[in-house]
Order: sequence, then C-alpha cells, then structure tokens
Amino acid sequence: MRIAVVGAGVVGTSVAWELTARGHQTVLIERCNEVAQETSFANGAQLHAGHAAPWNPPGVLRDAIGWLGKSDSPLRINPLRVLRNPSWSLRFLANATARRYRRHADANAALALYGVQQARAWRDALGLTFDARDSGILKLFDDPDALEHGRAEATAVEALGIRHRVLSIDETLAREPALSDAADQLAGAIEFPDDGCGDPLQFTAALAERLTAEGAELWLGTTARRLLGGPAGVEGVETSRGVVDVDAVVVAAGSYSPALTRAFGVRLPIEPVKGYSVSIPLKGVKGAPEMPIIDDTRKVVLTRLGDQLRIAGKAEITGFDLNLDERRWQVVRKQGLSRFPHLAEQLADAPSHPWAGLRPMTCDGLPILGPTPVSGLHLATGVGHLGWTFAAGSARLVADQLEERTCDLDPTPYQLRRPR
Ligand SMILES: Cc1cc2nc3c(=O)[nH]c(=O)nc-3n(C[C@H](O)[C@H](O)[C@H](O)COP(=O)(O)OP(=O)(O)OC[C@H]3O[C@@H](n4cnc5c(N)ncnc54)[C@H](O)[C@@H]3O)c2cc1C
Repeated sequence: MRIAVVGAGVVGTSVAWELTARGHQTVLIERCNEVAQETSFANGAQLHAGHAAPWNPPGVLRDAIGWLGKSDSPLRINPLRVLRNPSWSLRFLANATARRYRRHADANAALALYGVQQARAWRDALGLTFDARDSGILKLFDDPDALEHGRAEATAVEALGIRHRVLSIDETLAREPALSDAADQLAGAIEFPDDGCGDPLQFTAALAERLTAEGAELWLGTTARRLLGGPAGVEGVETSRGVVDVDAVVVAAGSYSPALTRAFGVRLPIEPVKGYSVSIPLKGVKGAPEMPIIDDTRKVVLTRLGDQLRIAGKAEITGFDLNLDERRWQVVRKQGLSRFPHLAEQLADAPSHPWAGLRPMTCDGLPILGPTPVSGLHLATGVGHLGWTFAAGSARLVADQLEERTCDLDPTPYQLRRPR
C-alpha cells in the first residue's frame, strides 16, 4: 500500500519505519526542516514501563487545587484555556475513578513494556545509536506513605512482567552514590531494573535515515494542510508541496492531530500539556547521577545522556504557547539539582539549555492508536507523557491494524472508541 504518515516526531517516524520495513510505500510528511523538532526534541528521555500510570488518579482534583498558585508548583492552568475546551477537563476528572484509573494504568503499562522491548529490538537489529542505557530507573520518595503507595502501584503491574525492588535508604545510596548528600531527605526508592533511557531525538533521526535508505519518502519542510477524500474515505493529503495520493493516512501530528481529523468528523480528545527540560553539559564535573531518576516529591526526572544531564518536569495547561518562561525552567533546574548540592555548586556557572514541549494528552491518559470509522484514516497520537516509551510498540499496533493482522498486544484499550 502507499501510505502517508503525517508528523515526524518519534511516534510518526516509528510508524513510518514499521510500515516501510513491512514493504509499504511510505511518505512521511513533516512541517519542520528536520525530524523530531517538537515534543520529541528534548524530553525526559526515560523509557519507563514502571511509571506508566495516567496523570488522573483518584484525588487528582484535590492535588491540583493544592498546587495552584504556588510558585514552584508542578502544575499551571490557564482558566481561559480550560474554558475553551471544557469537555476535555471534565472528562479528565471523570476518568479519575479507582476503577478507570486501574484499567488505564494497566493498559499503559502493557504498551510501555511492549514499546521499550520493541525499541531495544530495533536498536539491536539496526545498530541504532542514541545514548541508550538499559540501566533501570530509580524512583525516589521522601515520605514513607508515598513510598508505600508507590510499592502498591508497582506491585499492581508486576503480573504484566514489570519487575521492581523496594530499596532502603542505604540500598538507594549503594545503587546511586551521587545521592549521598540527600540521605536524610529520603524514605527510600523503588528500582525498576528493566527500564532505561536514551535520546529520542537521536533515535528518531537514526530511524529516519534508515527508512529513507529503504526507499521511503521523507518530505521535510512540508505542512499537511488537509486530508483529502469523500464519503468513501481518505484518499490523500494536500500539502504545502502538492497533493500526495495514498491508500491510507496515519495522523501522528502530536497535539496538532485534532486539527487534521476534524474535517472528517473524527474528534480527538487531546489537549496540549506543556513541560520544560533543561540540558546541562557535564564536562569536567564530578558527582552527577548515573541512574535515570524520577523524583516523586519534586515531580522532576533526571537523565544522563552522554556528557549532559537532562532535567525535565512541569505540566501546564496553557494552550499551544511554547514560550520559555525562565522562572519556570529555572525551578525545574533547581529542583532537579536539589538532591545533589556538590554537583549544583560545580554547575552554578554552566550553560543551561532550556526547552519546552507540548505533550499530546488524552482525557483518559491512554494513547489513540489504530483505525477510525473513516476508511483509510488511522491514528497514532495522544501519547501524552509517555510518547518516547510508547513509540515503537505503538508503531507495531498501528501497522498490524492497518494490515488487519492479529496484534501481539490487545489493541482494544487504545482504539478511538474506548470500551466503557
Ligand atoms: C518535558 C517533557 C518530558 C517528557 N519526558 C518523557 C520521558 O521521559 N519519556 C517518555 O516516554 N515521554 C516523555 N515525554 C513525552 C514525549 O516527549 C511525547 O509523548 C512524544 O514526544 C510525542 O511524540 P509525537 O511524535 O506524538 O509528537 P511530536 O514529537 O510533537 O511530533 C509531531 C510532529 O508532527 C508535526 N506536525 C504537526 N502538524 C503537522 C502538519 N499539519 N503537517 C506536517 N507536520 C505536522 C510536528 O512538526 C511534529 O514534528 C515528555 C514530554 C515533555 C514535554
């Protein structure tokens, strides 16, 4: 089949690779002049099946109210934005029941595990280099109750094959000696030994190189203006470089996906949720963490990528605004380094490279993968805070459904029409 994929972030490029590898004629359409220039550019870089729960657990409203107005809050909401898309917020809250949360967390965990395994399989088979490390991830807790809650969450997904180990303070320091100055702040940690990290920008660029080498077309600097077709379904894409006639289209345009599908009556419950990262070069510096870290209290992640440290965090519902608010990214930097005072001292004058991206977040926290009621129109979007982790697994699910094959993983939870 001739298939267009719109959006060359980590998700669209993964889908395009999978389709190309299966022998389809693929056209990957991207408005930027390079791949992975938007949300896949400088994210937290963690591949974490152990931390795949949606962001709307029971009690999310109480937590959100508690965070609002605080200068170092992980959350910021522009009420005008909420009023523009009230149904998303209401549905986000409606999904915060114990039953739905558990169901969505399990489905996300299964896809995350599949995604990490698939990304590693591609890495090994294709020789992709992207500062990948299969080091595991450490999740830190300050509060014994939060640690206990984290243990219960980790135990709940153990049956899916996601291993974890609860660590005492001494065991945490033995696993990551760079945390020695933080010993008196910690209640302990949970180690997810099968998680890891890697640079999604390098991964996406390497995959794009492979797919063009295999004969796929990569149309960079090309905006998909609208999908073409009629009652029989989608038949092409009108782009800034002309029309592409195809048998099927996969929309993988991140937070911008709803704008493309709306004309065909496909409404996607996706809201952009902004986050920040700061990348700091580590040359000549001692005491940086080797393990990727999730700091449960401060709501930041730290990941070592080659000779730089990436710190990421924050969730802002402020529309499509990508402005780099210095106060906000400085908080991310400060909170990330707060467990490492000696490192923070050495990095006081180091350059910081701030970045902001928009997570394409659905109101139930699950991605949207697979066919739509419109013939020829398929989706690979809504991957939220986990798009790097989900990407390679999502690509396989989308390709299997497009070819009407049986999937390795039950695709039902991620379909546009969700089971109730
Ligand atoms: C601060 C932060 C930290 C994160 N940390 C992690 C992490 O540690 N682990 C993890 O798994 N995930 C993480 N994420 C989430 C992850 O980054 C995203 O889920 C993922 O990058 C989304 O990928 P995507 O391909 O769907 O979207 P994008 O990367 O945004 O790609 C969409 C592409 O579509 C293109 N496009 C849009 N409209 C059009 C059009 N009309 N025509 C042509 N092209 C178009 C865009 O230019 C873009 O390149 C993080 C996100 C943020 C913001």
